[in-house]
Amino acid sequence: MTKRVLCVALAMVLLSSTLVGAQSVMSTDVIIVGGGGSGLVAALSAAEAGAKVVLLEKMGYLGGATMMSGGVMPAVGTRYQKELGIEDSVDAFARDIFRPGHYSQRRDLVYTVANNATEVLEWMEELGVKWKLVTGHLRIGQSNYRNHEAEGKGQGIVNVLVENVMKNENITVLLQTPGLGLIADTDGTVKGVAAETKDGEKLTVIADATILCTSGFAANGEMVAKYIPSIVGAYPMMAPGATGDGIIWGMELGAAVANMGAYQGYGPFSRELKQNLDLYALYRGGILVNKDGDRFTNEYLGYSELGAHIVNQPDHIAYMIIDGENAKNTPALTSWEEAGIVKKADTPEELAKQLGISPTKLRFVFDDYVEGIKNGEDRFNRTKLPKEWKAPFYAVEATGDLRHTQGGLVTDTEARVLKIDGERIPGLYAAGGVTEGFTSAGGPVYMSGSGLLQAFVFGRIAGQSAAARK
Ligand SMILES: Cc1cc2nc3c(=O)[nH]c(=O)nc-3n(C[C@H](O)[C@H](O)[C@H](O)COP(=O)(O)OP(=O)(O)OC[C@H]3O[C@@H](n4cnc5c(N)ncnc54)[C@H](O)[C@@H]3O)c2cc1C
Repeated sequence: MTKRVLCVALAMVLLSSTLVGAQSVMSTDVIIVGGGGSGLVAALSAAEAGAKVVLLEKMGYLGGATMMSGGVMPAVGTRYQKELGIEDSVDAFARDIFRPGHYSQRRDLVYTVANNATEVLEWMEELGVKWKLVTGHLRIGQSNYRNHEAEGKGQGIVNVLVENVMKNENITVLLQTPGLGLIADTDGTVKGVAAETKDGEKLTVIADATILCTSGFAANGEMVAKYIPSIVGAYPMMAPGATGDGIIWGMELGAAVANMGAYQGYGPFSRELKQNLDLYALYRGGILVNKDGDRFTNEYLGYSELGAHIVNQPDHIAYMIIDGENAKNTPALTSWEEAGIVKKADTPEELAKQLGISPTKLRFVFDDYVEGIKNGEDRFNRTKLPKEWKAPFYAVEATGDLRHTQGGLVTDTEARVLKIDGERIPGLYAAGGVTEGFTSAGGPVYMSGSGLLQAFVFGRIAGQSAAARK
């Protein structure tokens, strides 16, 4: 719901061509485009620093991808780690971020999030987010127990942030109000945003500082095809608002972009159920076989990488096959059977017939896998193998999805947007999925929790920098 709308007669000449026919003008200290995790955090942080803030959101609700997320954020030295006597360090945290990206990421950005995550997590706790340290099993890419999961997951975090935003007198929220473009003066200083209200009226928001929190471009088919062709065909699990708007506007003003091929997906994912399949069924010794009857990867990869490998098979699918022992430890199998998506057989030939693939090839795959088990290492260098591979066999169709992109506008550690020559674009800040991020120079590799880390830490920094007009 729109909280407050200020309508003022257009009283100044504005520079953007998008403003022809503009009817309303607002002015504020800080304008933020995008009301997901980074935008909400930036709004609260800027308001806390004394700024008047206007927050534009194109959807009819706040939350973006943040609302859809697992609500997991890594941080070191938190009271939760201390209570359990967990020894951890910023350097170990940074190494875990660097490792999947093979140190292709910017060191200053990685250390900014590693150093600031704890303060941000505790600040969010003061706002009302209830964190719990995840122990018992290490999340993908984490070498220590440092992932904190919020009560209510991503939705729980968004509920708390929205509640705080809505009661903050310094923040005006406008829903169903898409930003249409940036307003800049002749020397390239950003002066605000052109937008359209939910009634279709043109709106101009003039501000001392503009923060882009519009996320990445996962929902923009053209941009995905251009920058990440290898993931075309993935199941669309992204937030609908992630159409790349902020990245496009920044580029139009000469902003540099980086890591445009970096993204996060998930596999194995069921198209029929529209939900994740149990990744651990693969980690317990399950295998993936494509429609040509070939195994094609080491199934112990992280979920984002597995998604990419599956999407690049014929028809973007593979069959996840598990044996009888594994099935006993896969509780979700019952619900998959109830949904009618499981094929079951006692021999590879029978299973192959049901799947419509070559019985000879599936026989080869099974025999080859058994040989690998005997040798202690299979064809794809898996060494943590089950003791045996025995009937009955179960197969479920799986694909990979695309959740969010991880590359975008280049910023400095104060969240200021930079041009190709390294100079800043005065007045323009960015945070979250709209920025270049720090997961890798390209591809699906991903340390779990990186998306929210990027949104929350840089959302907070952007809000503070913008309020201070740094
Ligand atoms: C299914 C799923 C699960 C995930 N799980 C995790 C997880 O467990 N841990 C983790 O770290 N990350 C996870 N992620 C990634 C994480 O959610 C994102 O990295 C993070 O939420 C990005 O935050 P953001 O603020 O940049 O974008 P968002 O939260 O998506 O917010 C961007 C907002 O900007 C709005 N917007 C866009 N363009 C405009 C415009 N022109 N005008 C006005 N508004 C606009 C959008 O509508 C949206 O509301 C997951 C993502 C998905 C999709």
